[in-house]
Amino acid sequence: QSEQLQGKKAWITGASSGIGKATAHRLAAAGMNLVLSARRLERLETLAQALKATGVEVTLEPVDVSDRAAMAAVGERIAAAGGVDLLVNNAGTMPISPILSGRVDEWEQMIDVNIKGVLYAIHAVYSGMAERKQGHIINISSVAARTTFQSAGVYAGTKHAVRAISDTLRKEAIRYGVRVTDIQPGSVATELPDSIQHEKIRNAVKANLYADPKGVLQPEDIAEAIYYAASQPEHVDVSELLIRPQSME
Ligand code: NDP
Repeated sequence: QSEQLQGKKAWITGASSGIGKATAHRLAAAGMNLVLSARRLERLETLAQALKATGVEVTLEPVDVSDRAAMAAVGERIAAAGGVDLLVNNAGTMPISPILSGRVDEWEQMIDVNIKGVLYAIHAVYSGMAERKQGHIINISSVAARTTFQSAGVYAGTKHAVRAISDTLRKEAIRYGVRVTDIQPGSVATELPDSIQHEKIRNAVKANLYADPKGVLQPEDIAEAIYYAASQPEHVDVSELLIRPQSME
């Protein structure tokens, strides 16, 4: 299956930590050349250094995914370099809180990064894929794309949106030979809870995350799911994958 990906190119957003970083390692091991994005350039440079040993080409595109113009510029540079075969649309943030606490800036940030950022990345590569009649877009939504959690109303709203956008795009992209996958992780041990600004909720989420080793996935578990979806032969469309830790209800 990995021959499927050898020498092809993937753009991973949110590659500076967690799921994105693990995915960079997994796809490099499969022989993919990589374009890596996130805001923290130093993190990307350290990752690129670690990936050097695999012999794949790594290009760094530090960007805030919620910056429409900057994302369009990344898209232009990617197109000028021949486009990408795979987009792993992974950057996301989770500053959750009860709606009553009225953290309007944080709601907007989640909408800007988790929805608009995902759309900007799709926009940056989709037309090139459609022209070449070949490509794969993997969006990372969440178990929160199917259900909701207390205090996570806006976050779940953004992830429901990502799932809906993924499925609509999948139907549209069929005629262009472009595949679309929505990956829905349950709890994964990453830095994501650090984005929670509401202190009580952040502490509760973190305490819960590490309380039971069977209650949390590792970033590599999701990277493997991404690899599985990406490495299927072209006639196979893995439309959605929901991956929960073993003890999550
Ligand atoms: P991390 O916090 O470890 O990683 C998030 C990544 O997104 C980082 O690389 C961060 O890089 C990047 N990012 C955040 N905001 C922006 C921005 N404005 N512009 C560019 N990049 C940004 O969390 P995860 O690995 O867990 O998260 C990855 C995805 O998985 C997210 O979409 C998340 O919602 C989803 N997910 C996570 C789950 C979990 O339990 N961890 C469960 C279900 C889904 P930087 O800060 O350098 O910009």
